[in-house]
Amino acid sequence: MIKFDGYTRLVTFKNIDNQSIIEVHGQNIPKKNRSCIFCGNENAKFTKVAHAVSETIGNKSLISHFECDECNQQFGKMFEDDLGKYMLPYKIITKTFGKSNQLSSKDMPKEDGISYRTYRIQMNKNKPVMENSKVKALIIEKKNTGIIKLDKNKIDISIPRQHYFPPSIYCSFLKMAYSIMPLDLYPQYVNHIAVLQQLSSENSIYKSIEEKREIMSSMENCGLFCFFPGQNPLNGINVILWKNIDLNEREYPHILFTLEMKNFAFTIPVIRDDENGIYKMPKFSSNIEMQYGTLDFKNEEKVFKCEMSGEIIDIMDYKLLESELRKNNLLK
Ligand SMILES: [Zn+2]
Repeated sequence: MIKFDGYTRLVTFKNIDNQSIIEVHGQNIPKKNRSCIFCGNENAKFTKVAHAVSETIGNKSLISHFECDECNQQFGKMFEDDLGKYMLPYKIITKTFGKSNQLSSKDMPKEDGISYRTYRIQMNKNKPVMENSKVKALIIEKKNTGIIKLDKNKIDISIPRQHYFPPSIYCSFLKMAYSIMPLDLYPQYVNHIAVLQQLSSENSIYKSIEEKREIMSSMENCGLFCFFPGQNPLNGINVILWKNIDLNEREYPHILFTLEMKNFAFTIPVIRDDENGIYKMPKFSSNIEMQYGTLDFKNEEKVFKCEMSGEIIDIMDYKLLESELRKNNLLK
């Protein structure tokens, strides 16, 4: 597990990928008494369930009573698509399913009659990808496409991403951080929260998508990426807010947000209204094996590369496999 020097855990929610519903602030207040932490609109409606952390990354349990229907819908519209595209490789590798029970990645065909151009990755949560088989995941690629490279006992895998707008990912993580933040801290972040709300709003002070993108591009858009090898070393999907308790250390932000996803951890600075320009990441360490790098939400990362351990088995009957794939519409 990762630890930051001078920081302590302020909020932790573990295993939000399990099904038991938790209200993020532990408050079961009636709908008519609720207020929205994002828009503050007095007439806001609370008829839908608002997920405090996006369902796209596997949150099944953490909900918020302080996010209105309108904000919920507009955050989803503005950021969810980019977040889904960015996170897809991590979801495939950690077998994390969002709203649907299927994950897939492929490039679009040039000709009719084939369902992909050079590669197709498909993973099912429950049912096999082919009839008469137990296989729940497969990668098919045209020779030399470079999606998988096999070595003796390891597999190099490259998962392409569809085009996304990188600063959207920082905004998506920020939205999760604000959603789990203790209510008494909101006054110190209120200007930043208002900017995020206006970026997603259709009736925004920002007139065009270009203006919104300019604002988003000027945000911190950085963080720390960690990879922990092994089988689910971080125990599911967890979200954490860290608080700086080193009073002499004003160089680092007061709050950090971490999203842990089984093998991966994403940490971003959450900037307080009086902290503009302070987004240096503190020193960190881990008690288990870890690799790390910088999160860069200024540039698009078109392909995610990763090395996995695996075993190569001989398939005796390629003809049979091919006909099974064709029968199941996985090869045309
Ligand atoms: Zn609202």
